[in-house]
Amino acid sequence: MSGNDAAETAKIEVWWDMNDCPIPEGYDARRVRPSIERAFRKLGYTGRVSITAYGDQKKTPCHVLRGLSSTGVAVAHTNSDSTRSVMYRDMVGWRDQNPPPATMMIISNQVEGDLTWDLARLQQRTRYHLFLAYSIKSSDDLLLVCYANWRWEQLLEEEEGGTPPLVTCGLLSAAMFYCKSCNFDCQSMEKFRKHLSSYKHGLEEAINPPDTQLLCVTKAWARTYPATPQHATAKIHVLWDMNDCPIPEGYDARRVRPSIERAVKEIGYTGPVSITAFADQKETPDHHLLALSSTRVDFAHTLFWVKYSRMITEFEEWTEDNPAPATIMIISDEVASSQYLSSLICRKLQESNYNCFLAYSVRPFEMPILLTSAEWLWDSLLSVSETKRHLLHKCCSGSESVVESSGMFYCLLCICDCESLDDFKKHLSSKEHIHEDNIMNSHFQSAHRQRRLYKISNYHDEARYSPKTKRMREDNNDFLNTKVVNLYT
Ligand SMILES: [Zn+2]
Ligand SMILES: [Zn+2]
Repeated sequence: MSGNDAAETAKIEVWWDMNDCPIPEGYDARRVRPSIERAFRKLGYTGRVSITAYGDQKKTPCHVLRGLSSTGVAVAHTNSDSTRSVMYRDMVGWRDQNPPPATMMIISNQVEGDLTWDLARLQQRTRYHLFLAYSIKSSDDLLLVCYANWRWEQLLEEEEGGTPPLVTCGLLSAAMFYCKSCNFDCQSMEKFRKHLSSYKHGLEEAINPPDTQLLCVTKAWARTYPATPQHATAKIHVLWDMNDCPIPEGYDARRVRPSIERAVKEIGYTGPVSITAFADQKETPDHHLLALSSTRVDFAHTLFWVKYSRMITEFEEWTEDNPAPATIMIISDEVASSQYLSSLICRKLQESNYNCFLAYSVRPFEMPILLTSAEWLWDSLLSVSETKRHLLHKCCSGSESVVESSGMFYCLLCICDCESLDDFKKHLSSKEHIHEDNIMNSHFQSAHRQRRLYKISNYHDEARYSPKTKRMREDNNDFLNTKVVNLYT
């Protein structure tokens, strides 16, 4: 990923957890700054670098403190348990004061869990170029978009051709010493060390230690915002999972599109709306297919096993043809609640100025990692109660009469497009399609069986149990003779 010009010359702010990523034994602390600067220069980032080193500075030797401060690295004391939360709090505060373009670098092994969740959401609203360095890679690194990441030890390593110069080219601001426990700061190392060993400091840490719990700032954010001028008239693309959010019994399917359009209009969005409905369309009743298609809803035929991956693929393809600003609306319980399923969308929202709406039949138990500008319960979006009244009074509006079908029909198994419902139905009952359907089904059913056998075999290993019946021995051999099928192909 290459940066744009403004970001490449903008300032670079570095938060460094010295406990996770320490200065190696015998390494000259004065070389940390030039090593970081060199890594950025290599990627074309030439902005001024500010570094703050966090940790329990009572444990940091004098020569290290002196080495850091002499090269303009600020030193912040935190007690070890609160380093992560204090660093993050400072990061959030810095973002408030320093609008993009700017670059953030985090040196820590603990960019994961709640920190990743909150930072990924912050990045979906306000995009900084983000860089990471760590000595141990975290497991959930799929959610946060980084322009580059480094291994700490490699970052510090000498290059061929000798050590980087100790004197840096940029102007250094006077390095400061901070005590985050007491809100104390000074410019002299002696004064700083004296403070850390003072009674006052000890007492403050004992009675009023900084919070060890990370504060997720986006948790308090609203779920619905009025449209920004950039997004108000931009395109809106709707991916609708018809299984998670079905058409309610007795509901006129022709009202789905107007309901969605009315809901987004209420919060200021008037751009053109395209809708694709995902399901095993052989299960969708004809009158729904006809009614939806008459209101320009497109259909994508898929199977349960691959429905979500097909929705995500469709989203990716749509972003290629429709650069930001634009809005993506996801109608699905699973995609709304699963970080795994929404990770690709989450990354795209961090990279570009896309806006996201969610609708679901049940509110997700945990707040989604997707940062939304609006969320709806599916039933209230469709105004189901209103519909029931509507049906009761048997009043039928003329505008709802069936017009010629205009939605498209896609079979995502055979990659085949049909323009009419008749063609689509013909395709779904064709030999070629049924063959494709069977392949997909048997592939995933056998994957399911393999997974079960794998668990049984593991259990047998653990319990040191050898299969007794012929059937069990066969199952075991079956498993050993075949490879585990990759579930996500
Ligand atoms: Zn203090
Ligand atoms: Zn097909």
